[in-house]
Amino acid sequence: MSSSRTFGWAIAGLAVSPFLEYAWHAWIAHGKGRHPTRVAHLEHHRTAHTEGDPWAEIRENAPRIVGTAAAVAVVLTPFVGASRALGLATGLGAGYVAITLSHNRMHERGPRTPFEDALWRAHFHHHYADPTVDFGLTSLVFDRLLGTAVDPERVVIRVERAPSWWARDRAAGERARIHVEG
Ligand SMILES: [Zn+2]
Ligand SMILES: [Zn+2]
Repeated sequence: MSSSRTFGWAIAGLAVSPFLEYAWHAWIAHGKGRHPTRVAHLEHHRTAHTEGDPWAEIRENAPRIVGTAAAVAVVLTPFVGASRALGLATGLGAGYVAITLSHNRMHERGPRTPFEDALWRAHFHHHYADPTVDFGLTSLVFDRLLGTAVDPERVVIRVERAPSWWARDRAAGERARIHVEG
């Protein structure tokens, strides 16, 4: 057993997370099925102007995430061995935590870099203009690859629906072309 190989499989799990994030957000959270996470996500769309509690969200989803990662490990173990399978499962779990924290950050503070400007603008376009596009929460790569990337000229949000950080950091909103009106 090589711990560096296990680590490599954990990195692989982390690396595929942005695709899983896209798949969940586009096809489950905004899909036609009645998945429990879809209900929670639609509630997030109704309350996107408030700050969420990402650790409460992580605790709530932990049994589902741990169960899925464990199932992946069980299925893969006969093929790649337990240590690599567990490494991959650990990477998937860490990816989920990173995605949840990253998504929450867009709702609790303004963007700070050109990459964040583009990511925040896309996410608020998804929230306030068109929930059928811009599904990425940590990356815009899969929106570009799968034809759902829209970079609007600007995003306009009514003041009562403005993200909680906007009043503290209007300059960041203006720079990211996220305008609040009303
Ligand atoms: Zn959101
Ligand atoms: Zn959404």
